[in-house]
Amino acid sequence: MRRINFQSELRNVFKEIGQIAKELGFSVYLVGGPVRDVLLGRSFQDVDVVCVGNAVKLAKVFSKRVHGEFFYRRRFPNATVKWNNSAKVDFVSARSEVYSRNKVGLPRIRRTKDLLVDLKRRDFTVNAIAVDLGPENFGNLYDPFNGLEDCQKKVLRILHPNSFKEDPTRIFRAIRFSMELSFQIEENTKKSLNKNLKFLKGLSQQRLWKEIKVCLKDGSDVLNYLKKYGVLKVLGFSYPGQGFLERVDVGSIQFDVSPVNTLIIALIERGPIRGYTFERNLIQQIKYVREINNRTLRNIEVVHQLFKLEDYALLYLFAKYPKNSIIIENFFDNREKLKPELNGEDIKKLGVKESPEIGRIMNRIIEGRWIGKIAERNEEVDLVERYLGGKDVSW
Ligand code: ATP
Ligand code: MG
Repeated sequence: MRRINFQSELRNVFKEIGQIAKELGFSVYLVGGPVRDVLLGRSFQDVDVVCVGNAVKLAKVFSKRVHGEFFYRRRFPNATVKWNNSAKVDFVSARSEVYSRNKVGLPRIRRTKDLLVDLKRRDFTVNAIAVDLGPENFGNLYDPFNGLEDCQKKVLRILHPNSFKEDPTRIFRAIRFSMELSFQIEENTKKSLNKNLKFLKGLSQQRLWKEIKVCLKDGSDVLNYLKKYGVLKVLGFSYPGQGFLERVDVGSIQFDVSPVNTLIIALIERGPIRGYTFERNLIQQIKYVREINNRTLRNIEVVHQLFKLEDYALLYLFAKYPKNSIIIENFFDNREKLKPELNGEDIKKLGVKESPEIGRIMNRIIEGRWIGKIAERNEEVDLVERYLGGKDVSW
C-alpha cells in the first residue's frame, strides 16, 4: 500500500479533519487536484475532500475547531471552510452521477457510501486517486484506476469510453490540464476526444462559456491548443492568429489587463452576436470594437470613442491592428490627460444650449487634447467661447 507523506502543516490539518470524521462515524479522503499535485511535487491552493457521510456536518464541526468561516452551498450539497486568511477546504459528500443516454446535460446525482462509485464519476485517472485521512489509515492511497502510474508517465486518460460524451466539458479540462501540467493526452483518450467533439455543441451556453473562461485565464496559448484539437472549428469560432495572441500577451502585461474578455471577442469575431448570453456590457463592447477598424482608428474623429471602451476592448484593438497599436498605447498612457476637464454641465453653463452640439464640442476638446493643442481647462473654455462666437472650432 502506497502512503503519502504531507508536509507538517498540511498533515496537522488533514489529521484534524480525519479525526473529526471518525468521531462522527464518517470516512474522509483527499481527492482530485491536491492529490495529483502532491504526487507531482507541485504546490496547490484549493483542497478538495470527499466525505463518505455528511460532508456539510463534517465541515461545520471542522470550521468550529479551527475558528474558520463556514460557507454552505445547496448544490449537491457541499460546504467550504476558510481560515487563517488563505487556507480553504471544500467538503463534498461522496456521490454517484448517472447521465442520460440520449442527451447532453447534467447528471442525476445520488449520495453513495461507496468511495469507488464516487471516483468512477471523475474525469481522468490522475484525478481519481483518493488519500485516506482517517486516523487508522492516514495517508494511504486508494488508486483503483492506476492514476499514480499515469501521474508518473505524465498522461491524461479518461476512465471509460463514454466520458467525453457524457460530459463534453471534460474536453476543455483535458486540454487545460495537458497544458498546465505538461501532460500528454493518452492515445485512446485523444481519439475519443476527437470522436466526441460534436457533443460540445449540445452544451448550454452557460456551461460552455464557464469552461472557456477558465481555459482563457491560463493565457492566450490555450487558443492554439483549442485549435489543434478541433474545438474552435466545431464550435464555429475564429482563430485570431499567432501574432494576435502574442500581442495580447504583451499588451496584457504592459497595460495590466486580464485578457479573458479580449480573447472572447476574438473567438466570436465573425458572425452575429445574437444568441450569445454574455453580460450586457460585454455585448455592448463587442459592438463598439466592431465599429472600429484600421482606417477609423487613424481618424481623429474616432478617438473620443475610445473613452467608451473597457480596457479589454482596447487590448483587443491593440492586438488586432498592429499598424495602429501606437494609438492605443498612447491612449492607455495618456488617458487621464486626454480626458476633458469640462463636463456637459460646464459647457451648458458657459452658454451652449442643451443639444447634440454639446457632444460635438466635447469631441473637439478630446481631439484637441489628442493632438496636443489643449492641455488645460482654460484652453477648453477658450474653445467653447470660440464656438459661441461663431468661429470654426475644427482642428
Ligand atoms: P485544479 O483545481 O487544480 O484546476 P482539480 O483537479 O482540483 O484541478 P477541480 O475543478 O477543482 O479540478 O475539480 C476537483 C475534482 O473533481 C477533479 O479532480 C475531478 O476529480 C472532479 N471533477 C471536476 N470536474 C469534473 C468533470 N467535469 N467531470 C468529472 N470529474 C470532474
Ligand atoms: Mg481543485
